[in-house]
Amino acid sequence: MLVNDQLDRWDRESFFHPSTHLADFARGALPNRVVTGGSGCHIEDREGNRLLDAFAGLYCVNVGYGRPEIAEAIADQARELAYYHAYVGHGTEASITLAKMVMDRAPAHMSKVYFGLSGSDANETNVKLVWYYNNILSRPEKKKIISRWRGYHGSGLMTGSLTGLELFHKKFDLPLAQVLHTEAPYFFRRPDPAMDEAGFVAHCVAELEALIDREGADTIAAFIGEPVLGTGGIVPPPAGYWTAIQDVLARHDILLIADEVVTGFGRLGSMFGSTHYGLKPDLITIAKGLTSAYAPLSGSIVSDKVWAVLERGTDENGPIGHGWTYSAHPIGAAAGVANLRLIDELGLVQAAGETGAYLNAVLRDALAAHPHVGEVRGEGMLAAVDFVADRDKRRFFDASDKVGPRIAAALLEQGVIARAMPQGDILGFAPPFCLSREEADEIAGKTARAVAQVLG
Ligand code: PMP
Repeated sequence: MLVNDQLDRWDRESFFHPSTHLADFARGALPNRVVTGGSGCHIEDREGNRLLDAFAGLYCVNVGYGRPEIAEAIADQARELAYYHAYVGHGTEASITLAKMVMDRAPAHMSKVYFGLSGSDANETNVKLVWYYNNILSRPEKKKIISRWRGYHGSGLMTGSLTGLELFHKKFDLPLAQVLHTEAPYFFRRPDPAMDEAGFVAHCVAELEALIDREGADTIAAFIGEPVLGTGGIVPPPAGYWTAIQDVLARHDILLIADEVVTGFGRLGSMFGSTHYGLKPDLITIAKGLTSAYAPLSGSIVSDKVWAVLERGTDENGPIGHGWTYSAHPIGAAAGVANLRLIDELGLVQAAGETGAYLNAVLRDALAAHPHVGEVRGEGMLAAVDFVADRDKRRFFDASDKVGPRIAAALLEQGVIARAMPQGDILGFAPPFCLSREEADEIAGKTARAVAQVLG
């Protein structure tokens, strides 16, 4: 085993870490953490710390760490057949079985699943499929994609453009011209505090209508949204939001892409966020919970309506010119099959709903009365605490005060990992579905202590 000093040096000299302050890391101002193991809701690091991971990695280790059933499925697949491609009708027992399992769980009007590797590439696929669809329908002008400010859809060129967070655009020459952004369905941070929830939904609808009018419906192909805004702040939609938005999209013949990378496979206490909120998407993006991150795998699920046009397209043009070397990678597929079986066997979707409601309740009890807590909100096994400088005046802290990151750091000192969300002072929670009530109590109690330490 490498000694810590050497590993630290190699890390700072050689490893380009994603989403990291590169200069701080290189000069040693940002600590590194070498993670060595995990079990249930806990991870361990090289220093011997055992940490309660209340964010399930990046809201992805949904079944918890250290599941031997998935590890064995991966090892068996690697021994039997580590790789074969999925082009020109090829497959493996694992990839075909997983496709069937995904479609058995997906909303009834969905037809087929295309497998990729990451949430970003699956969203990239979905945008390409939407463009292909409109080209086959002889609507070459209908190509723009509407996303929401604070939406998160990845960090590629197109997907980073769809992501509605400044950090992902700044100095990257993004967003691309085909991407438009509209109001985030974020009631707590609504532009006018006098708006009630229904008034705010009407405002979101009016903003969307105005954007469509301005650009022309015949130039707009699709609207993409997460059922619950995730990285943008963990914000469940206001009541009636999705129904109202879908009415507008239907009127203008604009497809709906539901990005279920976080919400797919149980995080809200329902198999899909689309069914949870009554969405009828044309395409669904899945990733994280598909394998609980035991191996990289994502998917683009297309509806019957979209599939019919794609099929026609290949009749007219030949095979679809889209595919990755690692599409439907057998090891990822084997992990996915074992993961979905485990979710069923342990009743983890129901557990996510029930323990998630409990976690939200104890967080509210512990924090809602604090003068610098503006809102405690959540849905299923997702929760967030939104901090304010002044609750009555709805004044937010200055970003340079780093209130969110300081609270997350104080919580980490006590052995609990939550995430300071990237925009606004918001502490996010998305634990594995196997969280116990005792662990939920520990999260709430320690968060209250961390908040008191930073904000008094
Ligand atoms: N969509 C959503 C809703 C996400 O939360 C994420 C990742 N956090 C992505 C897409 C991108 O997934 P990946 O990081 O695997 O590319």
